[in-house]
Amino acid sequence: QIVATGICRTDDHVLEGGFPGIDFPVIPGHEGAGIVESVGEGVTSVKPGDKVILFGLPECGECSFCLNPDSNYCIKSHLSESQCLLPDKTSRFTCKGKQIHHFLWISTFAEYTVVPECVVAKIDAAAPLDKVCLLGCGFATGYGAAINTAKVKPGSSCAVFGLGGVGLSVIMGCKAAGAARIIAIDINKDKFAKAKELGATECISPRDFKKPVQEVLTEMTGHGVDYSFEVIGTADTLIAALASCNKNTGVCVMVGVVPAGTMVPIDPLLLLSGRTCKGTLLGGWRMRDSIPKLVSSYLEKKFNSDLLITHTLPIAKINEGFELLRAGKR
Ligand code: NAD
Ligand code: ZN
Repeated sequence: QIVATGICRTDDHVLEGGFPGIDFPVIPGHEGAGIVESVGEGVTSVKPGDKVILFGLPECGECSFCLNPDSNYCIKSHLSESQCLLPDKTSRFTCKGKQIHHFLWISTFAEYTVVPECVVAKIDAAAPLDKVCLLGCGFATGYGAAINTAKVKPGSSCAVFGLGGVGLSVIMGCKAAGAARIIAIDINKDKFAKAKELGATECISPRDFKKPVQEVLTEMTGHGVDYSFEVIGTADTLIAALASCNKNTGVCVMVGVVPAGTMVPIDPLLLLSGRTCKGTLLGGWRMRDSIPKLVSSYLEKKFNSDLLITHTLPIAKINEGFELLRAGKR
């Protein structure tokens, strides 16, 4: 039973057709928390009554990727093989007799869902599900992108492109890692107050400058930031983020999902001088191992992801939630 779910821009990419490998009709949603109602044969890690977080990145624990401690990409992931049907190639959803597809095996916009064991983790019974559901995607992704993927060092400088729930979580991660300077970038200035509250030291809108934002950032920092994060999902902002980090030791982390089929033209000289461009899925966490620990850290108040919550709506009003997302109000 899904008790609470967040809305991530990735769900909107699904609805818009920009997310790869989706079969329609589909029930999106991938940032959910719930309570196990029943388990199938052979399931050992959860039992009825357990509180769980569901996640869109499996951890089978057996494939060559899962056996590599440095990897958080399981070979059963959607980007290797579509998860629009469950592993047994069935769907458990129908509407008026017609089959509906699953999304990332979890479909958290349903009130009840059937999932394989490798996409859930039991969490502390004290965890408030309407708050910790964010740890299933948005918060974990942003915070982990800074801590695990970029491995931000104390005293460093960071630039975060895009201040949605994920970008704001990157800021929280950069701050927790001890970054000295965190420059937040968005075209929607309404996002600046929250970014500052969470740790941004400066906020800029690319629209306030005649020159490209990468030049602005290079001038602000002398030689570009140590770490840049693209958390929007467009080709232009990915190029800008890459060009904003230090020529030699700069690390650019691609968090945003650029619509499927988009090509990004990159001047190879940007990389020749030594820069690194890397992607991240769910912030590099091995989800089944890490999410319960992240929930414990939340309960110990090591971070406050509640500050990311702007609205709480009943599931029947989910389309209003999408309207708020598209209007830049969440
Ligand atoms: P969001 O839509 O809430 O936030 C995006 C922000 O970018 C908005 O504040 C918007 O005003 C800003 N923006 C848009 N165009 C801009 C531009 N040209 N310059 C500066 N700012 C601009 O999205 P979100 O839910 O925070 O997700 C961000 C991205 O991360 C999405 O692409 C999503 O699909 C992706 N994502 C990736 C992962 C992963 O595992 N890699 C996980 C979750 C989300
Ligand atoms: Zn695996």
